[in-house]
Amino acid sequence: MSSKAITDNQQLHAFLFPVMAQGHMIPMVDVARLFAARGLKSTIICTPVNGVSVSKATERDRLSGLDINVETIPFPAAEVGLPEGTESLDKVTSPEMFPKFFSAIALLQQPFELLLQEKRPNFVIAGMLMPWANESAAKFGIPRIGFHGTSCFSLSVVESLKLFRPYEAISTDADQDTSFVIPGLPDKIEMTVSQLPTDFRAGKNVVTEIMEKIRESEVGSYGVLVNSFYELEPAYAEHYKSILDRKTWHVGPVSLQNTSTLDKALRGKKPTLDENYVLNWLDSKEPNSVLYVSFGSVSRVSNNQLLELAMGLESSGYPFIWVVRQIKNDDENGFLPKGFEERIEGRGLIIRDWAPQVLILDHPAVGGFMTHCGWNSMLEAISAGVPMITWPMFAEQFYNEKFVTQVIKTGAQLGAKEYNMWVDAKNVSLVKKEAIATVVTQLMGDGEEAKGMRRRAKEIGEMAKRSVEEGGSSYTGLTTLIEEMKVYTKK
Ligand code: UDP
Repeated sequence: MSSKAITDNQQLHAFLFPVMAQGHMIPMVDVARLFAARGLKSTIICTPVNGVSVSKATERDRLSGLDINVETIPFPAAEVGLPEGTESLDKVTSPEMFPKFFSAIALLQQPFELLLQEKRPNFVIAGMLMPWANESAAKFGIPRIGFHGTSCFSLSVVESLKLFRPYEAISTDADQDTSFVIPGLPDKIEMTVSQLPTDFRAGKNVVTEIMEKIRESEVGSYGVLVNSFYELEPAYAEHYKSILDRKTWHVGPVSLQNTSTLDKALRGKKPTLDENYVLNWLDSKEPNSVLYVSFGSVSRVSNNQLLELAMGLESSGYPFIWVVRQIKNDDENGFLPKGFEERIEGRGLIIRDWAPQVLILDHPAVGGFMTHCGWNSMLEAISAGVPMITWPMFAEQFYNEKFVTQVIKTGAQLGAKEYNMWVDAKNVSLVKKEAIATVVTQLMGDGEEAKGMRRRAKEIGEMAKRSVEEGGSSYTGLTTLIEEMKVYTKK
């Protein structure tokens, strides 16, 4: 089957199919909106529960006449033994649910192909966790572009680790915390074996198999869409493109197109605390004085660790906004020290589950971000010119930490030592309150190092903004992709 050829005046139709995780759906919605703003027809494919927030986030564009659409396909939760409604990774609350969630994603291939048949888009951008999307697109003679949701830096790190296997030289358990250098990269980047994703260390299992398929499918994709900007990682953009021979388009930070309060508040889920309340609270604080603390959409932290964090934040003395996500069976209020809320009243704001993150990071009162190093969160902080305290937990977060602390140097690390499963971080050694208070005081204080980080963060934030303006590198990256897709469809 071949795709429909288009003429110069016809509208190009993009299909966007993100993995069902907030960290993938949120930036893909931004990408869909970017395409629609350039006159393309954009269709986001999602499942019914996710469709509600995706429709809300795109409604104003639709009403203003842009051709942006949402198509839903059912998520086979019950078929794989997951509770009804478990349609995104943030609803996965135990390690046992994880492989089931991936089995359900694999079952989406057939309904996805039926949609391709019916709608006949000109190209597909699909999350890399759906490696079969290459095969689906090929059936319809259209290109599949992959979306990892991360930077060229971290993609390059993975390739180097796979190619050179430097961790294999570290054999004894006692050496798991000894640093090694990752070979073949433009900079000297160091990490430890205990920070590596478990699929590097484990034998064959569901996760290692899917990771292998993803790597194979990357080579078979037409190219990779990157939510980052060239000036942020020029050496890695070139390395990934030239040395590793991949086609890429840097089009980010995609979050920057959300300029109004409403745009920012409607990204992802509905905030659990009203955005105007949060803004008023921030308005009452001095510029650069507030630390924002959040660990993304999926990680959950044990009550013991939350307790250390509460005490560390309190003793640092700085104002903070703290987004809390607990492990499912932990007691809801068991993590706060006695009298904590009274003592921090006016100085600390706790938000349970979901905060309007970009709105908070963009506020002038925010001077630091304690983050789990999810790429979206980091790029949102980079765009806002906010320095970070890094506390990576899983996925590619340890690589992202190295990027911010060793390459662009706008972050201070908290010293997280071990990779851990996000839903059950109970067996991980605790980061102690003293270490937390020390790093917070350093980052938020007036020492020379902190001032340097703040200055660099502001400069890089300005670069980010310029990259998405007309004529900027990411603006041009998107134009190049669109032009290439036009040529492809005329073949
Ligand atoms: N996010 C948010 N409010 C929250 C938690 C997360 O808006 O309370 C958004 C955040 O701005 C980012 C995404 O959810 O766009 C999380 O993606 P990231 O890559 O940072 O981490 P993940 O959730 O995938 O671990």
